[in-house]
Amino acid sequence: MRCVQITGSDDRMDCRDLFSDPINPLPRKCAECGFPDLDFVPQPYFLVKSRTMSPNELALAENGNFLIRERMRRVLDLLAPGQCTYFPTCYKGTSEKTPWLLAVPNHQVATARVDPSIPRCRTCGEPRCAHPGTQWSEMLFGRPPRSQSRGDGWTAHSDHEVLKSATWGSSERGWDQWISRDLYTSVRLLHLLKKMKAKGFYEATCQSPVTPDKDESAWIKEKLQLLVESGVPSHPAGTLSDDDAKWFRKFLKTHARQGEQEWDIKTAEKRVNAKLPKSYVDFVTAVGPTSFENIDEQEAFTASILPPTELSVGGFAEDCEDEESRAVNGLTFATTEHGDCFCFDVQKGRKEYAVFVFKHEYNLLEPYADNFAACIRRFATARDS
Ligand SMILES: [Zn+2]
Repeated sequence: MRCVQITGSDDRMDCRDLFSDPINPLPRKCAECGFPDLDFVPQPYFLVKSRTMSPNELALAENGNFLIRERMRRVLDLLAPGQCTYFPTCYKGTSEKTPWLLAVPNHQVATARVDPSIPRCRTCGEPRCAHPGTQWSEMLFGRPPRSQSRGDGWTAHSDHEVLKSATWGSSERGWDQWISRDLYTSVRLLHLLKKMKAKGFYEATCQSPVTPDKDESAWIKEKLQLLVESGVPSHPAGTLSDDDAKWFRKFLKTHARQGEQEWDIKTAEKRVNAKLPKSYVDFVTAVGPTSFENIDEQEAFTASILPPTELSVGGFAEDCEDEESRAVNGLTFATTEHGDCFCFDVQKGRKEYAVFVFKHEYNLLEPYADNFAACIRRFATARDS
């Protein structure tokens, strides 16, 4: 299958500055020239904490490796089983785990030949330097130049969905300045990830990006279906699915009151010390605080959406007995007549928050909906049916 080289953000989580100052240094492999053991994976593997907070789910790491969040791990487990080895990562200088895994592709491919005139180490045979632009004499694995027609001359073919270069590139002045290897994925995998709204990987090209051909498109369609059936969320946490977003827009339009209501959102956010999800703000602006009756087909189970001025922080989650409930950073946005309430699990960096219901009889919080829009959809389902 066709493969393309991957590029990503220059703000590397495992590097203070791009191409220099790695925070997980590699041991020497050659006693003579000091060339590093490029296949060594330092443990623990440290990441810069502030950079781990990006909402992306994919990121490049040193040496042709990459970093992924849990949802992407599930995708790769299903579509490219055994093609990577995964390692936990920790916040720099701590033993605290981050939500990212380091993925090391198990398959390597020689992507170029280094200019034979570059001096090599007598012991390990590695060249002193290998700049991709000026010191690689021949490309062995790559996308054909624009002049060649598609299919012909495409040398980046592999049986693997994910792989990295065995060949390394470096500064023209020596590998001790900076050294890197390249990451490749199949065209079809890259485009499938795009369809799943996973952010962080781009095709490295100065040409127009490749579009999947007929076979690749058929594979993408088939595998997206497989992922849905396997319960892998089709959109990243903290966003609305296309389906929910469409339903919600229609609901707001149908239930909008005459004249939008003005709320001082900034003041409300300041008071509860959290950014309010866009779907909630859109709802109270267009529809206003309202009640949903007989939700989940329970007689007299009425949920009343609170206005921004009445949202309230915590007050119950701390008293819950189970750890999962206490981990929820609760912001109540809907109350019921019998003591249960609905809250957001406020997480920094997210646009939408997961919704939990507080069951006062059991003194615990249960997951209720992916986000506010999905929650309203669930509330309204009883009303519509
Ligand atoms: Zn050497």
